[in-house]
Amino acid sequence: MKCLLCESFSLLHICSTCQEIFLTPSLSKRTIQNIEVISFYKYQDIKNLLHTKHTDLGYYIYTILAKNSFTKFAQEFNFTQKLQAIAIDDKSDENYSHTAILNKALKSKYIKPQYNILRAKNSVSYSGKNKEFRLINPRDFQLKKFKGNEVILVDDIITTGTTLNEAITVMKLSKKEVLFCLTLADAELK
Ligand SMILES: [Zn+2]
Repeated sequence: MKCLLCESFSLLHICSTCQEIFLTPSLSKRTIQNIEVISFYKYQDIKNLLHTKHTDLGYYIYTILAKNSFTKFAQEFNFTQKLQAIAIDDKSDENYSHTAILNKALKSKYIKPQYNILRAKNSVSYSGKNKEFRLINPRDFQLKKFKGNEVILVDDIITTGTTLNEAITVMKLSKKEVLFCLTLADAELK
């Protein structure tokens, strides 16, 4: 097949050269409720790749993105005990869940991904909506029981931070401690 970015022959949807040039993460951070949110990319930089999310290509592209960011992070991550990684609303949209792909990529010595834990009861789309709309239409998260108290929250895109803020609150109410959050891309970075 051809590399999506440079169109040269490649066994992967994005060739290894393009992965190195375009998908080497540049970390950015912000905080929500005093909890650090680390993003691997600027939304603008990988926008076209993120737009594959709702197509057949999405699974492959998200897998490549996750390998370059979440997997690398997890391999270098050291801690005193094993942490639970919980993805935001990892229900399957089109045969796969994009946040579950990211979460799975964290599997490592100190990180244990857990699935189907945090589900939104409200499935209204936030795409293109402002913060006010997001605030009056909360995700209404339902948290299933899981073992372990120290948590990493995982999402694909952070925009206003409303979703992660709500997820952090839900965790706190269940006496779980969110140590930090990881997102693939930050949409507010210029
Ligand atoms: Zn290429």
